[in-house]
Amino acid sequence: MLDVRGITVHFGDTVALDALDLSVGDDEVVCMLGASGSGKSTLLRAIAGLEPLAAGTIARDGVDLATTPPHRRDVGLMFQDHSLFPHRDVRGNVAFGLRMRRLPRDEIEARVHEVLEMVGLSGYEHRGVRQLSGGEQQRVALARALAPAPSLLLLDEPLGALDRALREELTVELKMLFDRLQIAVLLVTHDHDEAFALGDRVAVMHRGRVEQVGPPADVWRRPESELVARFLGWNVTYALGSKPSAVRPDAVTLTADGSLRGTVVSRAFRRDHFRVLIELEGSRDALDVSIRGAEPPAVGTQVGLVIDPDGVVELDR
Ligand code: ADP
Ligand code: MG
Repeated sequence: MLDVRGITVHFGDTVALDALDLSVGDDEVVCMLGASGSGKSTLLRAIAGLEPLAAGTIARDGVDLATTPPHRRDVGLMFQDHSLFPHRDVRGNVAFGLRMRRLPRDEIEARVHEVLEMVGLSGYEHRGVRQLSGGEQQRVALARALAPAPSLLLLDEPLGALDRALREELTVELKMLFDRLQIAVLLVTHDHDEAFALGDRVAVMHRGRVEQVGPPADVWRRPESELVARFLGWNVTYALGSKPSAVRPDAVTLTADGSLRGTVVSRAFRRDHFRVLIELEGSRDALDVSIRGAEPPAVGTQVGLVIDPDGVVELDR
């Protein structure tokens, strides 16, 4: 069990991590979801022992790691830019951590073979990494992180640089790999789909802190703050009561009547739905509404709105 308590990391005046708390269970996958600059990479580097802490503790199974150097922390870190050694072949890259541990040569060969098989690159040992596609390079970086059989895998935007179709394919593969490995995984990403698809829990990160953490369905259905709601693409409006409410875009239906009324101010086609922006009558708020199936009304049309209460959360903060 990884236990992170109140860790703070500064870079000059920048507070990259601000008293952050987090735990990861032994075979749990936790996805940190946050915008660029929210401190995701710094968090992984701190856990790996690569950034000094200004405050807080990082413990594994109750043992404080403060004096444990990076190579003794039993973690596999896959960097955001994957930083492969360009002049080495796949084998040389994957074997790196094993050579550092001075394993016998035949053990190294066997392990390289095994992890390449895990990531779907059997037989790639002697390819140069510069000749590989972006997706293949990500797999090599993943194999390198896995090679020393760490009990905690730290993945920094593992699918970041890839195009959408490949990302969706590799998301499914990663999920199967995590199920098979049964190790602790802490994955950071700015991509909602990736975080919600892969995490046993998802933590929304903002300015070096965890804003909300929980099982994907809970976080997705019950954002606890305006910040999380907006980050997940919900509307935040003051038009429904005395407190602000978060309204999921697909919880709104347009009808001819309805007590809530508004005007269509824009509409855009997305892959499998329309996004329609509706300015509410008697309020300065607009609602972003997701509409499937039917063609939405034209810009300028007056509409009534019905909101499914399951898609509304009253916010306290
Ligand atoms: P993320 O991975 O979520 O994009 P980072 O952890 O890379 O965020 O960065 C968090 C904050 O710390 C940012 O403001 C970034 O500019 C700053 N930062 C990160 N690394 C360094 C560094 N080595 N030197 C100075 N500032 C840094
Ligand atoms: Mg980063």
